[in-house]
Parts: sequence; structure tokens; C-alpha cells
Amino acid sequence: MNRRGLMKLVAAAAAGSWMTKREAAAQEQVARAVRGLPSPKIKDVQVIQTAPGGLRLPVVKVITDQPGLYGYGCACFTQRADLVVPAVEKYLRPFLIGKPADRIDDTWQAMYNSSYWRNGPVLNNAISGVDQALWDIKGRQANMPVYQLLGGKVREAADCYGHASGGEIAQVVESAKSYMARGFRHVRVQVGVPGMDGYGAGRGGTATAVKALHKGPVFEPAYYIRRALKLFEACRKELGDEVELLHDVHERVHPTQALQFAKDVEQFKLFFLEDVLSPEDIAWYRLIRQHTTTPQAMGELFNSPHEWSPLIAERLIDYIRVHVSQAGGLTPCRKMAAMAEHFAVRTAWHGPGDVSPIGHMANVTLDVVCYNFGVQEYSPFNERLQEVFKGCPVMKDGYLYPNEAPGWGIEVDEKLAAKYPFGDNERGSRKDLNGGWGEVRKRDGQIIKQ
Ligand SMILES: [Mg+2]
Repeated sequence: MNRRGLMKLVAAAAAGSWMTKREAAAQEQVARAVRGLPSPKIKDVQVIQTAPGGLRLPVVKVITDQPGLYGYGCACFTQRADLVVPAVEKYLRPFLIGKPADRIDDTWQAMYNSSYWRNGPVLNNAISGVDQALWDIKGRQANMPVYQLLGGKVREAADCYGHASGGEIAQVVESAKSYMARGFRHVRVQVGVPGMDGYGAGRGGTATAVKALHKGPVFEPAYYIRRALKLFEACRKELGDEVELLHDVHERVHPTQALQFAKDVEQFKLFFLEDVLSPEDIAWYRLIRQHTTTPQAMGELFNSPHEWSPLIAERLIDYIRVHVSQAGGLTPCRKMAAMAEHFAVRTAWHGPGDVSPIGHMANVTLDVVCYNFGVQEYSPFNERLQEVFKGCPVMKDGYLYPNEAPGWGIEVDEKLAAKYPFGDNERGSRKDLNGGWGEVRKRDGQIIKQ
């Protein structure tokens, strides 16, 4: 319906008294504001279940009652992907059908409160799928990329870091060099621990597994810490001072060790030290802040404002590193970024392979519109991902660029997506556990956070 048609309908409705004068005036105002475009209503909500890169990527599709107007959103909780699907299909779908697709914050608040029990990873990811799809729809309606809807760019592209890893220190150094040769100014470095299962680098070198009182993967924090310090020393010697080095502890050490480690790495001037504490131990950041200048990044496991608000407001961390879909999507994360700006805390949104290209586009959209952007984690899109998600963000010289096409600028080839079902290319315990993670224990059998 064109603008004139809508005006006529509004006038007729007002005359026919089924719409009050006040309502008619409000509708007319809306019609003017959206240049006569009628408000789209949500007609269907679906979940695309695909794993073109090996990791399970649930992506929500919201379809409106206007022909050809739909949008996609990232709902990627890869370790429990099968649970996100019914959260969308059985709960959000009936709740949303018939609702306007152009009231994003209102719809977000409604979804968030509709379960009463909230701030869990499954429900937040489901909400994010819808939230990001609604932003996509609004961008398609406006014929603008989402970053334009948010006010436009404050920078041209997002400076990214790549993952340099290896079982041996020399391998990590070589991997870092190859990123630097491709133009990256930031590199995350992770090395294996001999005979153990380290994070981000697999088992260290060719060493046989250390002796343990169990048969599973082993990890000892003290060994890892000594190894990581040697890695940073080698990196500074081989790579120089110019490159920004990052490192992810992945919450694998005790808070006391975290405090000592954060002090010991100060000499290597990391860009940031990530997840040196687990979410359960965040109160320890006060002590870490008092004892060291090593910049702290935290938050990829966060679900709730109760977790990030105190860390930001007390300036206890330097980078907020939330997994955007885990926090409920673009809507809460742009508010989080705005809050962080006031406290000079910068953003470093979680961006590994278990974020869909739609989610990466949401990340880079926030990166280019938020003044307090810090750095973006980058994970390459393999050929299959690029075929299924047409219009992935483009990487050039270590910078990631958002699309100029409307919405997220990504079209999902749904037929091709169906050819890579959940479980595709999974092996070992990940396959046995339906995409979930196994367990890692200390030598004596105590489970560790991972
Ligand atoms: Mg991490």
C-alpha cells in the first residue's frame, strides 16, 4: 500500500469510528515518519540449522506479511544448539506472530520478560536471533545497512586480531608472522603445554600425555602459566614491540594464580589479557586492578547486565568481550557499549567460528558505529560458509568491513544450508556429545573450568 492509500484508510477508519481520532492522528504521524510504508507484521519465525564450517550455527529467520521482507539473526550457542531451536519455535514463534516487526526495543523487552525466568544462554540466544532479524528487516525497509540506522560510521573498518597458535612456541611465532605479513596489527598467541590439553592450541608438541589418575585430557594451571610466559618472551624477541599481542587464559587458573600471572605478564605489554578469571570470580578484578597495569578483557560468558555493569561502572576491566547473541542481541549490546563509553571501557566483541556470519556482521556493525571500539576478534569464513551466507564481512589488511547492502547485507542460501546439518564434520567426543564439549581434569581428577 502506498502512502496515499494508507492516508485514505486512516481517514476512512476515523470516519467509520472504529478508530478514535487520536489513534488516527498517531497512525498518520507514523505513516509520515516511514514515508507511507505500512508497518510489517511478523508472519512466521523459523530456525535455520546449519554447520557449513563444522560448528553448529542456529540462525533465526523472521518473515513478515510484506512480500519479500524478512530478516536473519544470529542465535549461536553452538554447544547447546539443539535447545535454541525449540526455544524459538515453541515459545517465541507463537508469542511473536502478528506483532509489528518495526518495534524492536519493545519486542525485545516483551520477549525478555515473557519467560519470567531470564538471562540464561538458551533464551538469550533465541531472543538475539529475533532481535537481529528485526534489525535486518528495518535495514531492508529503509534500504540502508544497519550501521547507518545506528548513526553511521565513526571509523572506516574494524581493526581485528587473528589466532596464532601451535603446540610449540616456534610454531606460534611463525603463525603470528604470517598474520603480520597479511597486515594484522594485533595477534592472539596461544601455545600448547607439553603432554596436556591447553586452550586454543591443542596438546603441546609431541610430548606424550602426562601421568594422571584418569584417562581423559589433563591440564595443570602452573605448567601452563610457565609455558605462556616463555611464549610471550619469545614473541617479543622474534616479533618486536610493534605488534599488539593478546592472550586468552580461558578462566583456567585459580584467582590467586591469575593475580600473579597478570603481574608477571606486565613486562610484555600485552594489548589485553583475556578471561584471567571466571565469571564466578569477578570480584577478584578489584585486586588485580590494584596490583597491575595489564589491560583486562572479560565477558564472553556473560548473560546478564548484573555481570557486566559493576565491572564497567567500577572501571575494573578495559575491554568488554561479550558474545553478542549470548547477551540477547544487538539491542542490549549497543546499550552496553554506550554505557561502557562513559567509563572509557572499550569493546572487543566475541568473534570466533561459533558465531555465524550474521553475528559477525552484527559485531562489525557495532565496531564501526561505537566510539569506544577496542579490537575485533576475527575468524576466517571458509568457502562453504561464504556460499551459504552470501555477503560475509570482508577482511582486508587486518581490517574487517561491514556490507553496504541493506540490513546485514547477507542472504542465506537456505537449500545449501540444509546440506550441512548439525553434526556435519564433527568427530570424537564432540560428535558423541551432540556438539557439546567434553571435560578436562587436573592430574588428580579434579574438573577444571574450560
Ligand atoms: Mg575467549
